Amino acid sequence: MDVHQNYIGGRWVAPSATLPVINPSDGSKVAEIARGGAKEIDAAVAAGHAAVKGAWGKTDAVSRGRLLFKMAELIRRDAENLAKMESEDVGKPITQARGDVAACARSFEYYGAAADKVHGETIPFQNGFTVMTFYEPHGVTAHIVPWNYPLQMLGRSVAPSLAMGNAVVLKPAEDASLTALGLARLAEEAGFPAGVFNVVTGLGEEAGAALSAHPGIGHISFTGSREVGILVQAAAARNTIPVTLELGGKSPQVVFSDADFNEAGTIIVKAIVQNAGQTCSAGSRVLIEDSVYERFTGQLAERFKATRVGSASQDLDLGPVVNATQKARVERYLDIARRDGLKVLAEGSFGTNLPEGGYYVKPTLIGDVPPDHVLAQEEIFGPVLVAVRFRDEEDAVRISNCTPYGLVAGVWTADLGRSMRLSRKIQVGQVFVNNYGAGGGIELPFGGMKGSGHGREKGFEALYGFGALKTVTIRHGV
Ligand code: NAD
Repeated sequence: MDVHQNYIGGRWVAPSATLPVINPSDGSKVAEIARGGAKEIDAAVAAGHAAVKGAWGKTDAVSRGRLLFKMAELIRRDAENLAKMESEDVGKPITQARGDVAACARSFEYYGAAADKVHGETIPFQNGFTVMTFYEPHGVTAHIVPWNYPLQMLGRSVAPSLAMGNAVVLKPAEDASLTALGLARLAEEAGFPAGVFNVVTGLGEEAGAALSAHPGIGHISFTGSREVGILVQAAAARNTIPVTLELGGKSPQVVFSDADFNEAGTIIVKAIVQNAGQTCSAGSRVLIEDSVYERFTGQLAERFKATRVGSASQDLDLGPVVNATQKARVERYLDIARRDGLKVLAEGSFGTNLPEGGYYVKPTLIGDVPPDHVLAQEEIFGPVLVAVRFRDEEDAVRISNCTPYGLVAGVWTADLGRSMRLSRKIQVGQVFVNNYGAGGGIELPFGGMKGSGHGREKGFEALYGFGALKTVTIRHGV
């Protein structure tokens, strides 16, 4: 059985303690990863600073871009291997894991092409002065990512930071570290100088806490739960450094009577079933106009009944959830629904030959959920969709905005004016009109409002976030 090491300062470092890697499809132990802590984080941050002072600091933007392109090329070369690794590690159906690998490669490609396009400005000022601005890297940046889309999350977080010229210390989730280590191997092969790309695996409360509190870090990019995000922001505050928080969501899909039901139904079901509902931007509340509520939920129910759950390699609509805790969490919400007399409108089914010991839950559609009910307010992070009625546009906006979160919204209507009004009034970081998710597009700035966090990943916004703006004012006379 493989015992994986940490990658620090361009070297593979043998672990002094380990954690098991469990395959969620059958509960079996498949490998071990290092249980890194403060000592390994210290070494990784020091290695990052040495790289920035040395070879990496002297690498120009064009060359950084080429290294990122090389990463994209190597990820694509090893795509099948990475997809299998991810699929075994987190239980993703292999087709979905392949999509994640492609998205990760695309992040490196996008930011590789952007590395030499970070322009400053010249600013008109008083006569006799020239004023210009530059973006400068923060130094060593911390990246703490979750287990739900490990490759996608690390790609969109690490690639812009490297493009800007930072060195990175990546702490993957304890349930999903294998592909992060796989990428470290590719970074080594691509030719990044030692210390630019460091990976320390371990528990959140050990390696993660040590990284977020480290005084040598210049920026933290955190993707994960709201509870931990608050701890990370508090740690960043003590070092007065910027932090990007990509947290959870309870995203509404708002369906009006004039929507294309077929199109909306297909995408709404996919957006909650995909990755077994463990998606920050999962459209986990469907808000339906009263006059078409029965008709549309009827169609959704048929689609739910057709969904099938299988192991990662069986490659059905969804795989297991990531671990026993997550399974218990989803089941607890389903128990609450039963206790409160909510109506289960439809369930998916388990496929044949489901392996013993896996963490499987059925997709479930629950009807007539009051907007303030716990199932319509809290992030379940499983394949559970709650249907909520609304009266009119104003009611739809009110209900959309009535959770602590504000990540993404979908609006389904043929009325352009209405889609614009809702897009402006719903408090979220991304709105999709008559589509949802748009394939995760790295070009599209993404992030939350309210309890879903702040700062933006993806697009040029993310790139600028990994730099500090410096203004230089030269007095030269007229
Ligand atoms: P989590 O907060 O438990 O863990 C996320 C990461 O933080 C892991 O690497 C973990 O090891 C680390 N961590 C845990 N405790 C820590 C601590 N005390 N200090 C520092 N780091 C610590 O989240 P999760 O359960 O892995 O992921 C699910 C959550 O992530 C959901 O809420 C989901 O919505 C959110 N998420 C958000 C986005 C987004 O882009 N907004 C994307 C994916 C997931």
